[in-house]
Amino acid sequence: MKKICAICGQQIENEKSVGASHVCLDCQSKTYKKLEEENGCHMAIFMACAAFSIPCEPLVCPIDLTNYEGDKWARYIELLEENGKLKSGNRVRTFFDGETNIRMIFGRELSEKNFARYIAAEQERIESLEGTETQRERWGVADKYTSEEYDDLDRMYDNRIAQYKGITVTDQMDYIITEACKWQLVADKRRRMGDIKAATDALKAVDQLLASESLRKKDEKPVESLKTDALVVALEKAGLMENGQLLKYDELIEVMRDRFVKSKKYNYSLDAADQMIADYYNNLRANADMGMLVVLPEDLQVEDEYGEFEPEETEEEKKRKRYAGLAPVQFGKE
Ligand SMILES: [Zn+2]
Repeated sequence: MKKICAICGQQIENEKSVGASHVCLDCQSKTYKKLEEENGCHMAIFMACAAFSIPCEPLVCPIDLTNYEGDKWARYIELLEENGKLKSGNRVRTFFDGETNIRMIFGRELSEKNFARYIAAEQERIESLEGTETQRERWGVADKYTSEEYDDLDRMYDNRIAQYKGITVTDQMDYIITEACKWQLVADKRRRMGDIKAATDALKAVDQLLASESLRKKDEKPVESLKTDALVVALEKAGLMENGQLLKYDELIEVMRDRFVKSKKYNYSLDAADQMIADYYNNLRANADMGMLVVLPEDLQVEDEYGEFEPEETEEEKKRKRYAGLAPVQFGKE
């Protein structure tokens, strides 16, 4: 179901851009402009964010947003999107995911000047933090990981998740694997400190977590017994069976050729292949003091049985042929 704008009643076209709000971007912009006239650019952003439950993220704003010629609110939304601030995973971020403390951003006097100061101070603070923003969001900050540990966690996660290639990783699986990585890091740290007991306990926690979702290697299900009906469907889909019947040998060879062998392999046309062969052949003849041929003998002609060549002469090919001095060939029976 499409969202309808709560102000103008029109269908909201780009739902992604309005976040949790039920007001279309146009109506949001109009509200923003009214607020901006009285309160200035940044304060209006804060207020519009609160009004439409859009996260207020001062750090995505360039300092010169005030001078932006176009629709500043639309630009702000764009900036949020560019910086991945409209969503967190699949969840739409709301006002409460951004900076909600107005005095933090604008100072006690709630002045526009303080906004720039806030950005500078925040940036400095963030730069001094360990790990990247993504890593801090993914692994949390409560455990006070170092940048190196964040990288270790990423690596452990990648290694574990690699085992599930081709399988949909559910949120629950993702959570378990994330937690398992955290415990694995604890185990590594403890082991390095010589605290073997604690390291062993942490490893047990890893094992228990994975067991809870049957994610251990030994929990893997044995290969499901082969189902003939599924096999027939798969073979029919691949064109190797028809109406539940196996194909005759000749038909099978044809289908296998058409489906699995036939494909374009060369980025030039059959003509180019013939011309190259004629050229090689004439060079061989010239070296053997034999006369040049204008007609390519039948047994040297290429048949494009598997559709391996470009159907038409390409521009690139024309250029190269000119460079190589290749000439059109005549075909004939010798
Ligand atoms: Zn509207």
